[in-house]
Amino acid sequence: MHGLIDPYTSSKLSRALLDEVKELAKQFQKEFQRIPAFMEVCGSHTMALARTGVKKALQDDIRLISGPGCPVCVTDQAAIDAMISLTAGSDRIICTFGDMMRVPGSYGTLMQAKTEGKDIRVVYSPVDAVRIAEQNPQKEVIFLGIGFETTIPTLAAALKEAEENEVDNFSIWMAAKLTEPILRHLLNNKEVALDGFLLPGHVSMVMGRKHFEFLAAEYHLPGVISGFEAIELLSSLRQLLLLALEQNALVVNDYRNVVSEEGNSHAKYWMNHYFSSCDEPWRGIGVIAQSGMDIREEYRQFNAKEKFSVPMRSPRKTKCRCGEVIRGLIDPPECSLFGKACTPLNPIGPCMVSSEGSCAAYYQYMREE
Ligand code: SF4
Repeated sequence: MHGLIDPYTSSKLSRALLDEVKELAKQFQKEFQRIPAFMEVCGSHTMALARTGVKKALQDDIRLISGPGCPVCVTDQAAIDAMISLTAGSDRIICTFGDMMRVPGSYGTLMQAKTEGKDIRVVYSPVDAVRIAEQNPQKEVIFLGIGFETTIPTLAAALKEAEENEVDNFSIWMAAKLTEPILRHLLNNKEVALDGFLLPGHVSMVMGRKHFEFLAAEYHLPGVISGFEAIELLSSLRQLLLLALEQNALVVNDYRNVVSEEGNSHAKYWMNHYFSSCDEPWRGIGVIAQSGMDIREEYRQFNAKEKFSVPMRSPRKTKCRCGEVIRGLIDPPECSLFGKACTPLNPIGPCMVSSEGSCAAYYQYMREE
């Protein structure tokens, strides 16, 4: 017999947890004379906090700051422009995740290039792009490799498939990024005062809880790895508040049915087999040392940056403040374009396009009508 209460959807449990979180936040404010500030690292958390109403329900109690965890949003403008320039060759098929199609480059979007007749295909997995390469041996198939540790193993799976099947017309244009270096960068630069982190469930599934222990050991900040349902988010915020109140710098796994201590050793093995860390540019931040992953020299035949050259033009400047949004320096409504010139139908920056973007989340779920 099933339990009488589904713990993931019970509104009674959610209400009780919400009340407890609010009470703990009050205690924190009394103790430290300020609202607690937590950063959610993951773009899926940004959207989940907004969609479930948790962020709105807690807006007077906790400052929930969106961090640099949306893969599309953190991709540097010059990299977006280079990817769009890649479509120029008539012998090419560009494969990408759907979120990239409407991201504004300086001189157009992938969607516009597609309407002009370029062969650009949305795929659900990089391995699908290998299949397309096998079916089109006369064409070069290039996958646009954005994402964090959650996606990098899937890029490795595509390379393994291409290597084993000797698919020599497949390559990846890498712009993948790593979570730890960007968190270190934000903390070292002390741009935002934080009391802890809501840590990414998906990245932690690959990297494991221990991967984030540096936050406690070196920066003396607590972190809680969370799931994505309202009740999971509230439970993790409750834990984070308890740790922050006790000034107890621990990294706690609150997503135990998915995340282990060490992570997925198989995924990590293949990730490091095909890729090694490299310096990587981030939108609005610049190059951060060893914060990306590139294809290892021995697999350079799959490296699109070595196979193809694209004309590099200076990115066009706009008033978009995505760079500040992803560093947690401003909330989306502080951008003068938010909800006016920049909307999901007419996005000026990637944070309004992506399904994990902070501006899109605010626009859909937090905006005052
Ligand atoms: Fe950029 Fe639009 Fe967000 Fe402003 S509202 S920061 S223009 S995406």
